[in-house]
Amino acid sequence: MKEHFQFVDLPRQDPPKESAQNRILHWDEIYQHYDRETAASQSSRCISCGNPYCQWKCPVHNHIPDWLSLISQGRLFEAAELSHQTNSLPEICGRICPQDRLCEGACTMNDGFGAITIGSVEKYITDEAFAQGWQPDISAVQSTEKRVAIVGGGPAGLGCADFLVRNGVEATVFDRYPEIGGLLTYGIPPFKLEKRIVLKRREVMEHMGVKFILGKDIGKDIPLSDLLRDYDAVFLGMGTYAYMKGGFPGENLPGVHEALPYLIGNNNKVENWEPGEWSYIDLENLNVVVLGGGDTAMDCVRTAVRQGASSVTCVYRRDEANMPGSRREVWHAKEEGVRFLWNRQPVEISGNGAVQAVKVVETKLGEPDERGRRQPVPIPDSEQSIECDSAIIAFGFRPNPQPWFTEHNIEVDVFSRVKARPDSQFAFQTSNPKVFAGGDMVRGADLVVTAVFEGREAARGIMRFIDVW
Ligand SMILES: Cc1cc2nc3c(=O)[nH]c(=O)nc-3n(C[C@H](O)[C@H](O)[C@H](O)COP(=O)(O)OP(=O)(O)OC[C@H]3O[C@@H](n4cnc5c(N)ncnc54)[C@H](O)[C@@H]3O)c2cc1C
Ligand code: SF4
Repeated sequence: MKEHFQFVDLPRQDPPKESAQNRILHWDEIYQHYDRETAASQSSRCISCGNPYCQWKCPVHNHIPDWLSLISQGRLFEAAELSHQTNSLPEICGRICPQDRLCEGACTMNDGFGAITIGSVEKYITDEAFAQGWQPDISAVQSTEKRVAIVGGGPAGLGCADFLVRNGVEATVFDRYPEIGGLLTYGIPPFKLEKRIVLKRREVMEHMGVKFILGKDIGKDIPLSDLLRDYDAVFLGMGTYAYMKGGFPGENLPGVHEALPYLIGNNNKVENWEPGEWSYIDLENLNVVVLGGGDTAMDCVRTAVRQGASSVTCVYRRDEANMPGSRREVWHAKEEGVRFLWNRQPVEISGNGAVQAVKVVETKLGEPDERGRRQPVPIPDSEQSIECDSAIIAFGFRPNPQPWFTEHNIEVDVFSRVKARPDSQFAFQTSNPKVFAGGDMVRGADLVVTAVFEGREAARGIMRFIDVW
């Protein structure tokens, strides 16, 4: 009986987190790992709900209560096997999914007792299984003699490749960058996701038979027509790389930077990688203002803190409750000394030859728009100036359809997203029957887990299309 009410006696316990004053001195992840005993005891808090809300809320529908139960019994490799049945990157989702908005937010125990630490256990399972030498076993898989080319080695492409090779389809991933991972490697900072985790995943996938051809830009170095000729189908998981602009004066002043180039330049420096086209932007000793309220903005503010900025202020046009980013990341940023100015909308970046201030107006939240989000309404005569030496624009990303899409009959919608429907006869097929697509380029900038989901679902669609499912 006691086991079923473990959650009453045993409170939620996250893995130890390094203090803010120490962690801002380096770039490593801020959470330590569970040991075996804590992973087991925290997992045993789960009451295995008959209707597990956690699992329904999870975009890949992870078998959460089942692998929690296995871990509570110390059955690590079975948990790793089960975790990989629904998710191609569980150790990465365990680290950077916004669990507070997804599985843990939906957990029954969240109501009074503290949600089960689903993300931390998910991370523990794969990290520990890899450390003990476990690898996905696909030795019994029969080859279908079919081949699929995947453009983009981000979460969508990796999810697609993983599903295909597990089902006997040869998968070759092409990426324009020298390393796999997409934004996992080149956007997200190492204090959220150390790059060795992505490199380990590459090793595991290569061991499973996935081929990676890196440093090749499809459409420039290799035409899509070559892939269409040489493979049975093509999957596009190319992400969203057009930067959203504010449309106000001063955005092009020296000292104003786009978020992604800033983060990529920093990641390259931290990892000692070739800078390529991304020069390092050093904000040490500067007063920095970051504009935006999503995960990208949180990564920028926390990067600036670690670079030694004199002050870091985040300006967002809605209130804290309506921020799009993970609450956990906002909390981490606050702990690290970031100042937040809610309900402020930038109207100008001013300066004489270089940025000197960001002008904002106060806002209040108005009526919800067609997507149900309350719109910020500027308050008259509320303008104020925030002095700064540098400003980072983190308003998000839009898809950037390639000129060769038209030539190959790959249609996009009014928001420039590639049209590929999950519920069509062959899931995620584009208007070119041989081409499938998923992830951010189809749904707009979103999450790692949704990109993995679409890559995996597209793999199912592809296998039906090539008649092996
Ligand atoms: C700074 C930042 C922080 C984020 N933080 C989080 C977070 O904490 N949690 C979370 O869940 N999500 C987060 N996200 C969102 C998440 O990273 C994306 O939703 C996810 O990476 C999308 O996966 P994808 O495979 O669709 O695209 P991407 O990850 O963008 O991968 C696309 C890949 O395609 C390649 N490519 C593009 N064009 C070509 C071409 N012509 N030829 C060859 N290769 C090509 C690119 O080089 C890239 O490797 C964050 C995003 C950013 C920018
Ligand atoms: S909702 Fe929470 S308690 Fe219920 S099965 Fe999921 S993790 Fe366990």
